[in-house]
Amino acid sequence: MKKEIPKNLKIENRPFINGEFYLPKKVDLIKKKSPVNNYNLPDIINCGEKEIDLAVRSGGKAFNDGDWKNFSPKKKKNIFLSAAKSIKQNLKEIALIDCLETGRSIINFERDSIPKSIEVIEYFAESIDKIYDTMKPLNINSLGLITRKPYGVVASLTSWNDPLVPATWKACPAILMGNSIIMKPSENSTFSLLKVAELFFKSGLPKGVLNVITGSSSTGQKLVKHHGTNAIYFTGSAETGRKISQIASIKKLKKISLECGGKSCFIITKKCKSLKKAAKILAKNIFYNQGQICSAPSRLIINNKVKNTFLKYLYKETNKFIPGDPLDYNSEVGSIVNKNQFKKIKKYFKIGVKEKNKYKIFNKKIWKKSINFPPVIFYETKKNSKLLNNEIFGPILTCQYFSTNEEAIEIANSTDYGLASAIWSDDFKEVHYFINKIESGIVHINSYGEDDNSIPFGGIKESGFGRDKSINAFNEFSYIKSIYFKK
Ligand code: NAD
Repeated sequence: MKKEIPKNLKIENRPFINGEFYLPKKVDLIKKKSPVNNYNLPDIINCGEKEIDLAVRSGGKAFNDGDWKNFSPKKKKNIFLSAAKSIKQNLKEIALIDCLETGRSIINFERDSIPKSIEVIEYFAESIDKIYDTMKPLNINSLGLITRKPYGVVASLTSWNDPLVPATWKACPAILMGNSIIMKPSENSTFSLLKVAELFFKSGLPKGVLNVITGSSSTGQKLVKHHGTNAIYFTGSAETGRKISQIASIKKLKKISLECGGKSCFIITKKCKSLKKAAKILAKNIFYNQGQICSAPSRLIINNKVKNTFLKYLYKETNKFIPGDPLDYNSEVGSIVNKNQFKKIKKYFKIGVKEKNKYKIFNKKIWKKSINFPPVIFYETKKNSKLLNNEIFGPILTCQYFSTNEEAIEIANSTDYGLASAIWSDDFKEVHYFINKIESGIVHINSYGEDDNSIPFGGIKESGFGRDKSINAFNEFSYIKSIYFKK
């Protein structure tokens, strides 16, 4: 069955500022084409200084008026739960907008990505009346209070591959802590967040608390540099993250949180008893969404003794992830987001071939009408291959082999990134060895892609240092104010 595009589908493209959609008098437009069947999409308005200034002032006014930050936790929670309900009611439309804009399959959006972002909103809504400041009695006549306070106006820039998930990871704890936030989604996935901002406003969020400005990297740079923003929360590539950390504090010191890319590994030892299951989980996590997932396990590191059996299982599983029509409910895998991303993937594929790494390509019945890249497994990847330390963000898996666990750890930690990893082993002692040695922010044991809102998400090294999700996220969006009471 195929998703029909309703004739009356209206996609909003104006920035959402101070509780309304705002059309700038002079507009600089970014032309858009859907990766799905070349469907016509509205252009993106490339916001400039004027719109950013309006959004920052609106956020500042909302913060200083205190309407929102002084609401009771219960009132905040109810507004958020009501927004979550409205998003649920609009789920199919939002999923379609995201599918048309990014090419990721409709089924992924309807059953995974959008429900996940609704759960994020509900999780944070339900948490806000359960967090406390702390008190420390000092002596008979005095005590100390350790409290958390909002930064004021904060900004967030996000990536396109899962449009609403990182956006809600940031917006929810930021707003619930009392901040006003200005969001700048990627120019590759803008429209759904505009719709969601409107639904929050209609659910009772005061104007100015959540503004969404649209545009490309030039808009992002202006927002990051703006004197009125006190903290910057970023999800995107390490390359952009580095630029942002350089420009954010040129004129004023700002809190910065960076959530960047990855080159995550999937280690299988000879003591793994469930090779079939491991193959199924690896194929799903690297080839799902054409490898365009920050934490996708793009490096298989496997013991020589089990590699042949495992690869047989892996090839079988990979055949289930051939890209198809993103609007077809039978197709789990959609397309690449745009031609530039396709070219980047192709460039790395060619490098891999030129380096004479042995590979297998899975291109049976690939759907031609959108931008697709078939899954590729470089089943023998040379030690110095460029594929091993560059984030490709596409359906390309490398494989490296080891004899000892010391060798496995050396290979695993030899990249600049440190987002996620997996250890597949049924030996408890061995698992502990890897947990202690592996350089990554998230470690999966005999699993991958586990995703619970109460567990923090984030990496180390070039993968950044921010942490999204869980109660800890409230700390990211607030500073500590220490108070002494004396009799
Ligand atoms: P990107 O770095 O190109 O862009 C991210 C955001 O920053 C976008 O909104 C973009 O417009 C803006 N931007 C780009 N250049 C800028 C500049 N010089 N100054 C200010 N803003 C700028 O990343 P992308 O291509 O949108 O997304 C893919 C990347 O995101 C991958 O590296 C992926 O691993 C990463 N990612 C990380 C996570 C995580 O939670 N760690 C989640 C999803 C995606």
